[in-house]
Amino acid sequence: MPEQLDKVEVLVVGSGWAGGIVSAEMAKEGYDVVCLERGEEKSVEDYMHVKDELRFTSRHEMMQDLSSETVTSRHKRNITALPVRMQDDMNVGNDVGGGSVHWSGVTFRFLPYDFEIHTQTVDRYGEEKIPEGMTIQDWGISYEELEPYYDRFEKTAGISGEPNPLGPDRSDDYPNPPMVETPNIRLFRDAAENLGNHTYMLPAANSTTNYENPDGQNVAQCQYCAFCSAYGCDYGAKGDPIVTVLATAEETGNFELRAKSNVRRVNYDGEKATGVIYEDATTGIEYEQPADVVVLGAFTFTNTRLLLLSEIGTPYNPDTVEGVIGKNFTGHFLSKYGAVAFFNDRKFNLHMGAGALGAGFDDYAGDYIDHTDLDFLHGGEVEIRQYGDGPIDNNAVPEGTPNWGQEFKEKSLYYTNRNLRVHFQVGTLPWSFNYLDLDPTYKDQYGDPLLRVTNEYTDQDRNLMSYGVEVCREVAEEMGADIVDAEEISEEFDNTFTGGHYAGGVIMGDDPETSAVNNYLQMWDAENLFVVGASAFPHFGNYNPTGTVGALAYRAAEGIEEYLNNGGGQLVSSKNSTQKA
Ligand SMILES: Cc1cc2nc3c(=O)[nH]c(=O)nc-3n(C[C@H](O)[C@H](O)[C@H](O)COP(=O)(O)OP(=O)(O)OC[C@H]3O[C@@H](n4cnc5c(N)ncnc54)[C@H](O)[C@@H]3O)c2cc1C
Ligand code: SF4
Repeated sequence: MPEQLDKVEVLVVGSGWAGGIVSAEMAKEGYDVVCLERGEEKSVEDYMHVKDELRFTSRHEMMQDLSSETVTSRHKRNITALPVRMQDDMNVGNDVGGGSVHWSGVTFRFLPYDFEIHTQTVDRYGEEKIPEGMTIQDWGISYEELEPYYDRFEKTAGISGEPNPLGPDRSDDYPNPPMVETPNIRLFRDAAENLGNHTYMLPAANSTTNYENPDGQNVAQCQYCAFCSAYGCDYGAKGDPIVTVLATAEETGNFELRAKSNVRRVNYDGEKATGVIYEDATTGIEYEQPADVVVLGAFTFTNTRLLLLSEIGTPYNPDTVEGVIGKNFTGHFLSKYGAVAFFNDRKFNLHMGAGALGAGFDDYAGDYIDHTDLDFLHGGEVEIRQYGDGPIDNNAVPEGTPNWGQEFKEKSLYYTNRNLRVHFQVGTLPWSFNYLDLDPTYKDQYGDPLLRVTNEYTDQDRNLMSYGVEVCREVAEEMGADIVDAEEISEEFDNTFTGGHYAGGVIMGDDPETSAVNNYLQMWDAENLFVVGASAFPHFGNYNPTGTVGALAYRAAEGIEEYLNNGGGQLVSSKNSTQKA
């Protein structure tokens, strides 16, 4: 029997941006908040002297240990899924702050089109444009409604950026000026603009000033140190939960963070969540923690898995397309493609950089291009990034070079500062056959079933990506490269989960038949259970997710406060489905 603890008002699972924002907001309002985090306690000091490419980029020291828990994965429904055990194949955050600490920091907003994708697609192209099996649906919230929450997140994280000529309306500028425009970024922007595109510096959580956020927390000025994506920031210069929302929550005196606390179940009485069961990973003791409100902010995979293990909500059935938990799984799997430009007579300083240093353009994003005669929906954002290349992980050589031996060594050295990559970040649309469920065979360290991912590429994905690679090739050629290699798109999903862009499983909407949570991320089936994070995205827009995760977390916090102040109840009344039957 688990040891029984005293009830708390708000119990949060996971301490990344999703859980951190809700914790801070509720603690600021005077509620008694406990946050359970499976990983270790971490602070900025723990990231001092960690500029070690072997430990963090190659060996993924900050990521989840895949030997005790992982997902199983398959690229078709009729084959057996296998556990993903190679650290190179899966990057999921694990300690305090989660993936929100080792993220790169590019902080986008999704487009108005994304939130009303079904309605706008039907209005512009007719219902027949949506292929059989594609389960796009409106999100139950408009961009205009979410805009104030985007603004709050950008101010909390201290985002540096400049106006995007094609970006949606904003109520305010970014709180910090854009990052430095380096020579290769200028080259990209000139080339893209010569071709008629509208470029901007990427919105970055790498702060360009010593910034004080509205909660009084400081984000220091970025040093362009190059050990950023997959690392914690030892300068405290990356907007992350440790230097912002978790610090704010701590200062209230109403917040307790329990690290090494692995949540295994949400207790449910058929109407409400009553608390959670977790194991203290240091002692092995199991606890039951009761709560008035339970918030899952444990990333897409755990959010979905905990609901399935706890039997809350109806599991999604791909045969009938009924049920919701596990539905509409999507990821930016194809976003790794683009074109690499090699220069014979021009060198760049690629070993300096920052996670979100770069520029992009949105001329092919969302529904900006007319899809009438195209064999895909949605679009992509084109960008160049200057992360800061490490010598181990970066050995770009032109196509046709052997991958070992003298010629490889010579070309790898020659091109080390002479290659630039332009890539296309695509929108990923959901299908009835791409989903999450519990694996029938493989189990975790406790004997609980692992989460199973079924994800198939479709012509929609391949056609959109091929289109994007051609756009990247054109820009790379305009940049004056001597060699341009357009990357080849793999035909099938390769069962890798790098980059942290996975969504769905607990999707939002305005109809309980086709969504699991409403637009406050409150579950239709349990009014005191809020499920926060990219698990709520009904599809993946063509931008990085965390701006939208942050905005939705602020919205959820507002909903939780309303729920507690008004004595409970559903915050939104349900409407008819907007999904194609
Ligand atoms: C290398 C990398 C770079 C990225 N760069 C960008 C970028 O530039 N821009 C962008 O928008 N996004 C980026 N992402 C994605 C970004 O990290 C996520 O969108 C974001 O962190 C999600 O926040 P979250 O709070 O939902 O999840 P997380 O930050 O992952 O937090 C979830 C927390 O829950 C904890 N947890 C999980 N299961 C349990 C359990 N059973 N019990 C207790 N605790 C649990 C985890 O340990 C973790 O701390 C990147 C991801 C990676 C891996
Ligand atoms: S590049 Fe900037 S934000 Fe990133 S780790 Fe270095 S100093 Fe921190």
